[in-house]
Amino acid sequence: MRLRPTHLRARLTFWYVSVLAALLALGWAGTCTLLFLQLRSQVDRFAIEEIETVEGLFYFDAAGALQMRENYHNHPESKEVIDRYVEVLSPEGAVLFRNEKLGRRPLGGAPFAGEGVGGYSQRTARLSDGTRLRLVSRVHSLDGRALLIRLAHSEEPLYAGLDELLLASLLVLPVVLLTAGVAGYVLAWRALKPIERMARHAEEITAERLDARLPDDDTDDELGQLARVFNETLARLERAFEQLRRFTSDASHELRTPLAMIRSVGEVGLQKDGSREEYRDIIGSMLEEVNRLSSLIDNLLTISRADSGHLQLHKAAVPVMALAREAAGLFEILMEEKSQRLTLDGDETAQAEGDRLFLRQALVNILHNAVKYSPVGETIALHVRRDDGRVLVEIQDHGPGIPAEDHQKVFDRFYRVDKARWRESGGAGLGLAIAKWAVEAHGGTLTLESKLGEGSSFRISLPGAGLDGPFPPAVPAHASGFT
Ligand code: ADP
Repeated sequence: MRLRPTHLRARLTFWYVSVLAALLALGWAGTCTLLFLQLRSQVDRFAIEEIETVEGLFYFDAAGALQMRENYHNHPESKEVIDRYVEVLSPEGAVLFRNEKLGRRPLGGAPFAGEGVGGYSQRTARLSDGTRLRLVSRVHSLDGRALLIRLAHSEEPLYAGLDELLLASLLVLPVVLLTAGVAGYVLAWRALKPIERMARHAEEITAERLDARLPDDDTDDELGQLARVFNETLARLERAFEQLRRFTSDASHELRTPLAMIRSVGEVGLQKDGSREEYRDIIGSMLEEVNRLSSLIDNLLTISRADSGHLQLHKAAVPVMALAREAAGLFEILMEEKSQRLTLDGDETAQAEGDRLFLRQALVNILHNAVKYSPVGETIALHVRRDDGRVLVEIQDHGPGIPAEDHQKVFDRFYRVDKARWRESGGAGLGLAIAKWAVEAHGGTLTLESKLGEGSSFRISLPGAGLDGPFPPAVPAHASGFT
Protein backbone atom coordinates (compact mmCIF):
# COMPACT_ATOMS: atom_id res chain seq x y z
CA MET A 1 0.00 0.00 0.00
CA ARG A 2 1.29 3.43 -0.89
CA LEU A 3 0.79 6.02 1.82
CA ARG A 4 2.65 8.89 0.14
CA PRO A 5 0.30 11.30 -1.64
CA THR A 6 1.03 11.37 -5.38
CA HIS A 7 0.33 15.05 -6.05
CA LEU A 8 3.02 17.50 -5.11
CA ARG A 9 0.55 19.90 -3.51
CA ALA A 10 -0.93 17.07 -1.41
CA ARG A 11 2.60 16.04 -0.42
CA LEU A 12 3.50 19.62 0.52
CA THR A 13 0.31 19.94 2.59
CA PHE A 14 0.97 16.60 4.25
CA TRP A 15 4.48 17.62 5.24
CA TYR A 16 3.37 21.08 6.31
CA VAL A 17 0.58 19.71 8.55
CA SER A 18 2.86 16.99 9.98
CA VAL A 19 5.59 19.47 10.87
CA LEU A 20 3.02 21.87 12.33
CA ALA A 21 1.50 19.06 14.45
CA ALA A 22 4.95 18.03 15.71
CA LEU A 23 5.83 21.64 16.57
CA LEU A 24 2.51 22.20 18.35
CA ALA A 25 2.97 18.97 20.36
CA LEU A 26 6.50 20.00 21.26
CA GLY A 27 5.35 23.51 22.21
CA TRP A 28 2.49 22.11 24.26
CA ALA A 29 4.75 19.64 26.12
CA GLY A 30 7.30 22.40 26.81
CA THR A 31 4.68 24.84 28.08
CA CYS A 32 3.06 22.24 30.34
CA THR A 33 6.39 21.15 31.82
CA LEU A 34 7.38 24.75 32.51
CA LEU A 35 3.99 25.56 34.01
CA PHE A 36 4.05 22.43 36.15
CA LEU A 37 7.56 23.16 37.46
CA GLN A 38 6.63 26.76 38.25
CA LEU A 39 3.49 25.74 40.10
CA ARG A 40 5.40 23.08 42.00
CA SER A 41 8.07 25.58 43.11
CA GLN A 42 5.24 27.86 44.22
CA VAL A 43 3.75 24.99 46.21
CA ASP A 44 7.21 24.41 47.75
CA ARG A 45 7.39 28.06 48.77
CA PHE A 46 3.94 27.89 50.37
CA ALA A 47 4.88 24.67 52.18
CA ILE A 48 8.02 26.30 53.62
CA GLU A 49 5.99 29.27 54.89
CA GLU A 50 3.42 26.90 56.35
CA ILE A 51 6.07 24.79 58.14
CA GLU A 52 7.33 28.00 59.78
CA THR A 53 3.78 28.69 60.92
CA VAL A 54 3.23 25.15 62.17
CA GLU A 55 6.47 25.20 64.21
CA GLY A 56 4.99 27.87 66.45
CA LEU A 57 1.78 25.92 67.07
CA PHE A 58 3.32 22.77 68.60
CA TYR A 59 3.68 22.22 72.34
CA PHE A 60 4.18 19.30 74.71
CA ASP A 61 1.23 18.69 77.03
CA ALA A 62 1.57 17.73 80.68
CA ALA A 63 1.81 14.05 79.74
CA GLY A 64 4.72 14.82 77.43
CA ALA A 65 2.64 14.21 74.26
CA LEU A 66 3.04 16.58 71.31
CA GLN A 67 -0.08 18.67 70.58
CA MET A 68 -1.03 21.41 68.11
CA ARG A 69 -3.01 24.47 69.12
CA GLU A 70 -6.12 24.56 67.05
CA ASN A 71 -8.18 27.30 68.66
CA TYR A 72 -8.78 29.62 65.74
CA HIS A 73 -9.47 32.68 67.86
CA ASN A 74 -6.06 32.89 69.44
CA HIS A 75 -4.19 31.23 66.54
CA PRO A 76 -6.00 31.90 63.23
CA GLU A 77 -2.92 30.76 61.33
CA SER A 78 -3.63 27.19 62.48
CA LYS A 79 -6.54 27.19 60.01
CA GLU A 80 -4.07 27.47 57.13
CA VAL A 81 -2.49 24.15 57.89
CA ILE A 82 -5.61 22.15 58.59
CA ASP A 83 -6.04 21.49 54.85
CA ARG A 84 -2.47 20.15 54.54
CA TYR A 85 -1.00 16.80 55.55
CA VAL A 86 1.16 17.22 58.68
CA GLU A 87 3.31 14.62 60.40
CA VAL A 88 5.92 15.00 63.17
CA LEU A 89 8.54 12.32 63.83
CA SER A 90 11.30 11.93 66.36
CA PRO A 91 14.79 11.74 64.77
CA GLU A 92 14.61 7.96 65.32
CA GLY A 93 11.41 7.74 63.26
CA ALA A 94 8.78 7.43 66.07
CA VAL A 95 5.52 9.12 65.06
CA LEU A 96 4.79 12.00 67.47
CA PHE A 97 1.91 13.67 65.65
CA ARG A 98 -0.38 13.31 62.59
CA ASN A 99 -3.09 15.83 61.82
CA GLU A 100 -6.71 15.00 61.23
CA LYS A 101 -6.50 15.16 57.42
CA LEU A 102 -3.63 12.68 57.39
CA GLY A 103 -5.31 10.38 59.92
CA ARG A 104 -3.42 7.14 60.43
CA ARG A 105 -1.70 7.15 57.04
CA PRO A 106 2.11 7.46 57.10
CA LEU A 107 3.60 10.47 55.30
CA GLY A 108 6.87 9.69 53.49
CA GLY A 109 7.97 6.69 55.65
CA ALA A 110 11.05 6.55 57.89
CA PRO A 111 13.30 9.69 57.84
CA PHE A 112 16.31 9.49 55.53
CA ALA A 113 19.76 10.59 56.60
CA GLY A 114 20.00 14.37 56.85
CA GLU A 115 16.29 14.94 56.16
CA GLY A 116 15.33 18.50 57.10
CA VAL A 117 18.69 19.15 58.80
CA GLY A 118 20.02 22.70 58.31
CA GLY A 119 17.27 23.63 55.81
CA TYR A 120 14.21 22.32 54.00
CA SER A 121 14.09 18.96 52.16
CA GLN A 122 11.65 18.81 49.24
CA ARG A 123 10.49 15.70 47.41
CA THR A 124 7.49 14.02 45.87
CA ALA A 125 5.73 11.16 47.63
CA ARG A 126 2.50 9.19 47.56
CA LEU A 127 -0.04 8.38 50.23
CA SER A 128 -1.13 4.80 50.65
CA ASP A 129 -4.32 5.63 48.65
CA GLY A 130 -2.16 6.77 45.73
CA THR A 131 -2.58 10.54 46.27
CA ARG A 132 0.41 12.36 44.77
CA LEU A 133 2.07 14.76 47.19
CA ARG A 134 4.72 17.45 47.35
CA LEU A 135 6.43 17.04 50.68
CA VAL A 136 8.64 19.49 52.60
CA SER A 137 10.42 18.54 55.84
CA ARG A 138 12.49 20.36 58.44
CA VAL A 139 14.05 19.54 61.80
CA HIS A 140 12.79 21.85 64.59
CA SER A 141 13.78 21.99 68.24
CA LEU A 142 11.02 22.28 70.86
CA ASP A 143 11.79 22.38 74.56
CA GLY A 144 15.24 20.97 73.83
CA ARG A 145 13.86 18.01 71.81
CA ALA A 146 14.44 17.60 68.07
CA LEU A 147 11.29 17.22 65.94
CA LEU A 148 11.16 16.30 62.21
CA ILE A 149 8.14 18.22 60.89
CA ARG A 150 6.74 17.09 57.52
CA LEU A 151 4.11 19.08 55.63
CA ALA A 152 2.67 18.00 52.29
CA HIS A 153 0.36 19.48 49.62
CA SER A 154 -1.66 17.27 47.36
CA GLU A 155 -0.46 17.54 43.76
CA GLU A 156 -3.71 16.06 42.46
CA PRO A 157 -5.28 19.48 41.57
CA LEU A 158 -2.09 20.24 39.59
CA TYR A 159 -2.37 17.01 37.61
CA ALA A 160 -6.11 17.53 37.16
CA GLY A 161 -5.38 20.98 35.70
CA LEU A 162 -2.85 19.45 33.32
CA ASP A 163 -5.35 16.80 32.25
CA GLU A 164 -7.93 19.48 31.52
CA LEU A 165 -5.38 21.41 29.47
CA LEU A 166 -4.49 18.24 27.54
CA LEU A 167 -8.13 17.52 26.82
CA ALA A 168 -8.78 21.07 25.65
CA SER A 169 -5.70 20.90 23.40
CA LEU A 170 -6.76 17.58 21.95
CA LEU A 171 -10.10 19.11 21.06
CA VAL A 172 -8.59 22.28 19.58
CA LEU A 173 -5.62 20.67 17.79
CA PRO A 174 -7.60 18.91 15.02
CA VAL A 175 -9.43 22.15 14.24
CA VAL A 176 -6.12 24.05 14.07
CA LEU A 177 -4.49 21.35 11.91
CA LEU A 178 -7.50 21.12 9.61
CA THR A 179 -7.56 24.89 9.09
CA ALA A 180 -3.78 24.93 8.51
CA GLY A 181 -4.08 21.97 6.11
CA VAL A 182 -6.79 23.64 4.02
CA ALA A 183 -4.86 26.94 3.96
CA GLY A 184 -1.63 25.07 3.06
CA TYR A 185 -3.33 23.12 0.30
CA VAL A 186 -4.82 26.28 -1.23
CA LEU A 187 -1.42 28.02 -1.04
CA ALA A 188 0.41 25.07 -2.61
CA TRP A 189 -2.25 24.81 -5.30
CA ARG A 190 -1.86 28.50 -6.15
CA ALA A 191 1.95 28.33 -6.08
CA LEU A 192 2.06 25.27 -8.33
CA LYS A 193 -0.57 26.41 -10.79
CA PRO A 194 2.02 27.94 -13.19
CA ILE A 195 3.83 24.55 -13.30
CA GLU A 196 0.61 22.88 -14.43
CA ARG A 197 0.24 25.52 -17.09
CA MET A 198 3.86 24.91 -18.21
CA ALA A 199 3.30 21.14 -18.32
CA ARG A 200 0.22 21.62 -20.52
CA HIS A 201 2.19 23.81 -22.92
CA ALA A 202 5.20 21.45 -22.86
CA GLU A 203 2.94 18.58 -23.91
CA GLU A 204 2.16 20.42 -27.11
CA ILE A 205 5.85 20.79 -28.06
CA THR A 206 6.91 18.24 -30.66
CA ALA A 207 9.74 18.08 -33.21
CA GLU A 208 7.35 19.72 -35.70
CA ARG A 209 6.29 22.44 -33.27
CA LEU A 210 9.65 23.51 -31.87
CA ASP A 211 8.66 27.16 -32.31
CA ALA A 212 6.22 26.83 -29.39
CA ARG A 213 7.38 28.33 -26.10
CA LEU A 214 6.40 27.99 -22.46
CA PRO A 215 4.40 30.89 -20.98
CA ASP A 216 6.84 33.28 -19.35
CA ASP A 217 5.12 35.80 -17.09
CA ASP A 218 8.31 37.84 -17.02
CA THR A 219 8.70 37.19 -13.32
CA ASP A 220 12.04 36.84 -11.56
CA ASP A 221 10.95 33.94 -9.36
CA GLU A 222 12.14 30.33 -9.72
CA LEU A 223 9.30 29.41 -12.08
CA GLY A 224 9.96 32.41 -14.31
CA GLN A 225 13.65 31.39 -14.47
CA LEU A 226 12.69 27.78 -15.23
CA ALA A 227 10.44 28.90 -18.08
CA ARG A 228 13.19 31.13 -19.49
CA VAL A 229 15.87 28.40 -19.30
CA PHE A 230 13.48 25.91 -20.92
CA ASN A 231 12.60 28.39 -23.67
CA GLU A 232 16.29 29.08 -24.36
CA THR A 233 16.90 25.33 -24.64
CA LEU A 234 13.96 25.08 -27.02
CA ALA A 235 15.35 27.94 -29.10
CA ARG A 236 18.73 26.16 -29.32
CA LEU A 237 17.01 22.93 -30.28
CA GLU A 238 14.95 24.71 -32.90
CA ARG A 239 18.10 26.25 -34.40
CA ALA A 240 19.85 22.86 -34.39
CA PHE A 241 16.84 21.17 -36.02
CA GLU A 242 16.61 23.91 -38.64
CA GLN A 243 20.34 23.60 -39.37
CA LEU A 244 20.00 19.84 -39.68
CA ARG A 245 16.96 20.15 -41.94
CA ARG A 246 18.76 22.65 -44.18
CA PHE A 247 21.89 20.51 -44.24
CA THR A 248 19.90 17.41 -45.19
CA SER A 249 17.97 19.15 -47.94
CA ASP A 250 21.13 20.88 -49.32
CA ALA A 251 23.05 17.62 -49.20
CA SER A 252 20.28 15.72 -51.00
CA HIS A 253 20.13 18.45 -53.59
CA GLU A 254 23.89 18.26 -54.15
CA LEU A 255 23.77 14.48 -54.40
CA ARG A 256 20.85 14.53 -56.82
CA THR A 257 22.59 16.63 -59.46
CA PRO A 258 25.57 14.31 -60.21
CA LEU A 259 23.28 11.29 -60.03
CA ALA A 260 20.90 12.86 -62.54
CA MET A 261 23.91 13.60 -64.78
CA ILE A 262 25.14 10.00 -64.59
CA ARG A 263 21.65 8.78 -65.37
CA SER A 264 21.07 11.06 -68.35
CA VAL A 265 24.54 10.37 -69.80
CA GLY A 266 23.88 6.63 -69.38
CA GLU A 267 20.44 6.84 -70.98
CA VAL A 268 21.74 8.77 -73.97
CA GLY A 269 24.53 6.20 -74.36
CA LEU A 270 22.03 3.34 -74.32
CA GLN A 271 19.74 4.90 -76.90
CA LYS A 272 22.25 4.95 -79.73
CA ASP A 273 24.80 2.58 -81.19
CA GLY A 274 27.96 4.54 -80.73
CA SER A 275 31.55 3.96 -81.61
CA ARG A 276 34.12 2.73 -79.09
CA GLU A 277 35.40 6.29 -78.83
CA GLU A 278 31.94 7.63 -77.99
CA TYR A 279 31.42 5.00 -75.28
CA ARG A 280 34.80 5.92 -73.76
CA ASP A 281 33.65 9.55 -73.59
CA ILE A 282 30.36 8.53 -71.95
CA ILE A 283 32.12 6.37 -69.35
CA GLY A 284 34.68 9.14 -68.80
CA SER A 285 32.03 11.73 -68.02
CA MET A 286 30.19 9.25 -65.82
CA LEU A 287 33.40 8.63 -63.86
CA GLU A 288 33.90 12.37 -63.54
CA GLU A 289 30.48 12.63 -61.88
CA VAL A 290 31.27 9.62 -59.67
CA ASN A 291 34.47 11.38 -58.53
CA ARG A 292 32.47 14.49 -57.77
CA LEU A 293 30.00 12.37 -55.84
CA SER A 294 32.63 10.60 -53.76
CA SER A 295 34.44 13.80 -52.86
CA LEU A 296 31.07 15.34 -51.91
CA ILE A 297 30.28 12.34 -49.73
CA ASP A 298 33.74 12.59 -48.10
CA ASN A 299 33.06 16.23 -47.28
CA LEU A 300 29.59 15.50 -45.96
CA LEU A 301 31.02 12.78 -43.73
CA THR A 302 33.70 15.12 -42.38
CA ILE A 303 31.09 17.77 -41.61
CA SER A 304 28.66 15.39 -39.93
CA ARG A 305 31.45 13.87 -37.82
CA ALA A 306 32.64 17.34 -36.86
CA ASP A 307 29.06 18.31 -35.89
CA SER A 308 28.58 15.22 -33.76
CA GLY A 309 31.88 15.93 -31.98
CA HIS A 310 33.20 12.49 -32.88
CA LEU A 311 36.32 13.77 -34.63
CA GLN A 312 39.33 13.55 -32.40
CA LEU A 313 42.32 15.78 -32.99
CA HIS A 314 45.69 14.08 -32.55
CA LYS A 315 47.80 17.12 -31.87
CA ALA A 316 51.51 17.37 -32.45
CA ALA A 317 54.03 19.97 -33.62
CA VAL A 318 53.43 20.34 -37.37
CA PRO A 319 56.10 22.04 -39.55
CA VAL A 320 53.90 24.37 -41.57
CA MET A 321 56.18 24.98 -44.61
CA ALA A 322 56.54 21.24 -45.16
CA LEU A 323 52.78 20.81 -44.84
CA ALA A 324 52.17 23.60 -47.36
CA ARG A 325 54.58 21.98 -49.86
CA GLU A 326 52.79 18.67 -49.41
CA ALA A 327 49.35 20.26 -50.00
CA ALA A 328 50.59 22.22 -53.01
CA GLY A 329 52.03 19.03 -54.52
CA LEU A 330 48.49 17.75 -55.04
CA PHE A 331 47.74 20.53 -57.53
CA GLU A 332 50.94 20.31 -59.55
CA ILE A 333 49.26 18.76 -62.62
CA LEU A 334 46.22 21.03 -62.44
CA MET A 335 48.46 24.08 -62.26
CA GLU A 336 50.58 22.89 -65.09
CA GLU A 337 47.46 22.55 -67.22
CA LYS A 338 46.51 26.14 -66.38
CA SER A 339 50.12 27.38 -66.64
CA GLN A 340 49.89 28.69 -63.08
CA ARG A 341 52.80 29.16 -60.69
CA LEU A 342 52.96 28.87 -56.92
CA THR A 343 55.49 30.81 -54.85
CA LEU A 344 56.00 29.34 -51.45
CA ASP A 345 58.17 31.22 -48.95
CA GLY A 346 58.49 32.04 -45.30
CA ASP A 347 59.78 30.71 -42.01
CA GLU A 348 60.99 27.11 -42.40
CA THR A 349 61.10 26.70 -38.62
CA ALA A 350 57.47 27.65 -37.97
CA GLN A 351 55.53 24.85 -36.32
CA ALA A 352 51.84 24.80 -35.49
CA GLU A 353 50.27 22.83 -32.70
CA GLY A 354 47.67 20.63 -34.33
CA ASP A 355 46.44 17.57 -36.12
CA ARG A 356 48.44 17.24 -39.32
CA LEU A 357 45.60 15.66 -41.32
CA PHE A 358 43.03 18.35 -40.60
CA LEU A 359 45.47 21.23 -41.03
CA ARG A 360 46.48 19.73 -44.37
CA GLN A 361 42.81 19.46 -45.36
CA ALA A 362 42.29 23.17 -44.58
CA LEU A 363 45.32 24.16 -46.67
CA VAL A 364 44.29 21.86 -49.53
CA ASN A 365 40.75 23.31 -49.66
CA ILE A 366 41.99 26.92 -49.76
CA LEU A 367 44.76 26.16 -52.28
CA HIS A 368 42.32 24.22 -54.45
CA ASN A 369 40.01 27.26 -54.60
CA ALA A 370 42.96 29.52 -55.46
CA VAL A 371 43.93 27.22 -58.34
CA LYS A 372 40.29 26.66 -59.44
CA TYR A 373 39.26 30.30 -59.49
CA SER A 374 42.54 31.89 -60.74
CA PRO A 375 42.72 32.42 -64.48
CA VAL A 376 45.30 30.77 -66.74
CA GLY A 377 48.88 31.94 -66.26
CA GLU A 378 48.37 33.60 -62.86
CA THR A 379 50.62 33.28 -59.84
CA ILE A 380 49.49 32.05 -56.42
CA ALA A 381 51.56 33.01 -53.36
CA LEU A 382 51.78 31.14 -50.09
CA HIS A 383 53.62 32.79 -47.24
CA VAL A 384 54.34 31.43 -43.75
CA ARG A 385 55.51 33.47 -40.79
CA ARG A 386 55.55 33.48 -37.03
CA ASP A 387 53.90 36.22 -35.03
CA ASP A 388 53.72 36.45 -31.24
CA GLY A 389 53.54 32.70 -30.57
CA ARG A 390 51.26 32.05 -33.52
CA VAL A 391 51.87 30.80 -37.04
CA LEU A 392 50.31 32.79 -39.89
CA VAL A 393 49.74 31.27 -43.32
CA GLU A 394 48.63 33.56 -46.13
CA ILE A 395 47.38 32.24 -49.47
CA GLN A 396 47.01 34.94 -52.10
CA ASP A 397 45.63 34.60 -55.61
CA HIS A 398 44.87 36.94 -58.47
CA GLY A 399 41.51 35.42 -59.28
CA PRO A 400 38.14 37.14 -59.71
CA GLY A 401 37.94 38.14 -56.03
CA ILE A 402 34.90 37.84 -53.79
CA PRO A 403 32.30 40.61 -53.33
CA ALA A 404 32.41 42.22 -49.87
CA GLU A 405 28.86 41.09 -49.01
CA ASP A 406 29.95 37.46 -49.46
CA HIS A 407 33.10 37.61 -47.32
CA GLN A 408 31.35 35.92 -44.38
CA LYS A 409 28.94 33.79 -46.40
CA VAL A 410 31.66 31.94 -48.34
CA PHE A 411 32.40 30.08 -45.11
CA ASP A 412 28.79 28.87 -44.87
CA ARG A 413 27.95 25.35 -45.95
CA PHE A 414 26.82 24.93 -49.56
CA TYR A 415 27.38 28.60 -50.30
CA ARG A 416 28.74 29.55 -53.71
CA VAL A 417 29.29 33.08 -54.92
CA ASP A 418 28.66 32.34 -58.57
CA LYS A 419 25.72 29.96 -58.47
CA ALA A 420 25.39 29.82 -62.24
CA ARG A 421 28.91 28.61 -62.97
CA TRP A 422 29.44 26.17 -60.14
CA ARG A 423 29.45 23.06 -62.32
CA GLU A 424 32.49 24.38 -64.16
CA SER A 425 34.46 24.74 -60.94
CA GLY A 426 32.90 21.59 -59.51
CA GLY A 427 32.60 22.65 -55.88
CA ALA A 428 29.60 22.04 -53.64
CA GLY A 429 30.36 25.00 -51.41
CA LEU A 430 31.73 22.89 -48.56
CA GLY A 431 35.50 23.41 -48.91
CA LEU A 432 35.77 26.68 -46.98
CA ALA A 433 33.24 25.55 -44.34
CA ILE A 434 35.45 22.52 -43.61
CA ALA A 435 38.63 24.61 -43.68
CA LYS A 436 37.15 27.08 -41.21
CA TRP A 437 35.97 24.30 -38.91
CA ALA A 438 39.41 22.61 -39.00
CA VAL A 439 41.25 25.86 -38.21
CA GLU A 440 38.88 26.89 -35.44
CA ALA A 441 38.98 23.40 -33.88
CA HIS A 442 42.69 24.12 -33.33
CA GLY A 443 41.97 27.44 -31.63
CA GLY A 444 42.87 29.31 -34.80
CA THR A 445 41.14 31.79 -37.13
CA LEU A 446 40.52 31.86 -40.86
CA THR A 447 39.91 35.29 -42.39
CA LEU A 448 39.48 36.62 -45.88
CA GLU A 449 40.55 39.80 -47.60
CA SER A 450 39.37 40.18 -51.16
CA LYS A 451 38.58 42.79 -53.78
CA LEU A 452 36.50 42.10 -56.85
CA GLY A 453 38.71 41.90 -59.89
CA GLU A 454 41.95 41.94 -57.89
CA GLY A 455 42.08 38.60 -56.11
CA SER A 456 41.64 37.05 -52.71
CA SER A 457 43.86 36.51 -49.72
CA PHE A 458 42.97 33.88 -47.09
CA ARG A 459 44.83 34.11 -43.78
CA ILE A 460 45.11 31.24 -41.32
CA SER A 461 46.31 31.96 -37.80
CA LEU A 462 47.23 28.92 -35.69
CA PRO A 463 48.68 28.49 -32.22
CA GLY A 464 52.41 27.85 -32.56
CA ALA A 465 54.02 24.71 -31.14
CA GLY A 466 56.35 25.26 -28.18
CA LEU A 467 59.37 23.52 -29.65
CA ASP A 468 60.15 25.55 -32.72
CA GLY A 469 63.26 24.53 -34.55
CA PRO A 470 64.61 23.65 -37.99
CA PHE A 471 62.77 20.64 -39.37
CA PRO A 472 63.84 18.54 -42.33
CA PRO A 473 61.19 19.63 -44.85
CA ALA A 474 58.87 16.70 -45.59
CA VAL A 475 58.64 17.55 -49.28
CA PRO A 476 57.07 14.98 -51.55
CA ALA A 477 59.15 14.52 -54.68
CA HIS A 478 56.46 15.86 -57.01
CA ALA A 479 56.10 19.11 -55.06
CA SER A 480 59.75 20.11 -55.24
CA GLY A 481 59.06 22.18 -58.35
CA PHE A 482 57.35 24.84 -56.24
CA THR A 483 59.42 27.82 -55.31
P1 ADP B 1 33.56 25.35 -53.56
O1 ADP B 1 33.76 23.92 -53.36
O2 ADP B 1 32.33 25.70 -54.31
O3 ADP B 1 34.76 26.04 -54.03
P2 ADP B 1 34.10 26.63 -51.10
O4 ADP B 1 33.44 26.53 -49.78
O5 ADP B 1 35.50 26.21 -51.16
O6 ADP B 1 33.20 25.85 -52.11
O7 ADP B 1 33.96 28.12 -51.56
C1 ADP B 1 32.74 28.78 -51.50
C2 ADP B 1 32.62 29.79 -52.61
O8 ADP B 1 33.53 30.86 -52.36
C3 ADP B 1 32.99 29.26 -53.93
O9 ADP B 1 31.88 28.70 -54.61
C4 ADP B 1 33.49 30.47 -54.66
O10 ADP B 1 32.39 31.16 -55.26
C5 ADP B 1 34.05 31.35 -53.56
N1 ADP B 1 35.53 31.28 -53.50
C6 ADP B 1 36.25 30.50 -52.67
N2 ADP B 1 37.57 30.68 -52.84
C7 ADP B 1 37.69 31.61 -53.81
C8 ADP B 1 38.79 32.27 -54.47
N3 ADP B 1 40.07 31.96 -54.11
N4 ADP B 1 38.54 33.16 -55.41
C9 ADP B 1 37.27 33.47 -55.73
N5 ADP B 1 36.17 32.92 -55.19
C10 ADP B 1 36.37 31.98 -54.23
